[in-house]
Amino acid sequence: MNTPLIFATNNQHKVDEIRAATGSQFLITTLKEAGINIDIPEPHDTLEENAAEKSATILQLTGNNCFSEDTGLEVTALNGAPGVKSARYAGEDKSFDKNVEKLLSEMIGKEDRSARFRTVISLRLDGAHHLFEGICEGTILNEPNGTGGFGYDPIFSPLGANCSFAQMTMEEKNMFSHRKKAVEQLVSFLNNYVKK
Ligand code: IMP
Repeated sequence: MNTPLIFATNNQHKVDEIRAATGSQFLITTLKEAGINIDIPEPHDTLEENAAEKSATILQLTGNNCFSEDTGLEVTALNGAPGVKSARYAGEDKSFDKNVEKLLSEMIGKEDRSARFRTVISLRLDGAHHLFEGICEGTILNEPNGTGGFGYDPIFSPLGANCSFAQMTMEEKNMFSHRKKAVEQLVSFLNNYVKK
C-alpha cells in the first residue's frame, strides 16, 4: 500500500502521534498538505458516526482514500461523559484548559475516578468503509500534572503507569495510548489489504 492516505484532522498533535505510530511505511497526508482548509463538524451522538462523517466529507471533497478519527474520554462516575462531547465539554471555544477545569470540578467528591479514552478510526478505502477501535483504561488525577501532549493528558494516568500522559514522551504515551491501539489495527488491516 504505497498510495497516499489523507488523515482528516486539523489537530497537529494527532498527526504527530499517528505518524510516530505508523512509522514510514505509509504516506500520510494531512488536510493542510492536501490544501483543504475546513473545520469538519462533529454533530453526532457517537464517536463512530462522527468519525464516519469526517472521512465521508473528505472522500467527497477529494475522491482520495482517507481516514479520520474521533476520540472521547469516558468517565465512569459521570456516566460516560464527556464522551463524544470531549472537545466542547466546557463550551464551543474547545479550550483544553477549561475542559480540564470543568472535569476536575465535576469529579469533586467522586470516589470512583476510573475512566477510559476511546478512539474510533474510520477508513474509506477503494469505495469501502471500515471502522477500528482502541481503548486505554486509566484514572482521572486530582490535579493537572505535566506539560506534554494535549487535551485531558495532564489529568489522565493510564493503568500501569505512575504519571499522567502529559508527563510522558510521545513514545511513552504510545505504549499505552487508545489512538496507538486503533492505529495498530488500521496498520494491520492495510498490511493485509489486497485491492479487489
Ligand atoms: P476529537 O473530537 O477527536 O478531536 O477529540 C475530542 C477531545 O478529546 C479533544 O479536543 C481533546 O480534548 C480530547 N482528546 C482526544 N484525544 C486525546 C488524547 O490523546 N489525550 C487527551 N485528550 C484527548
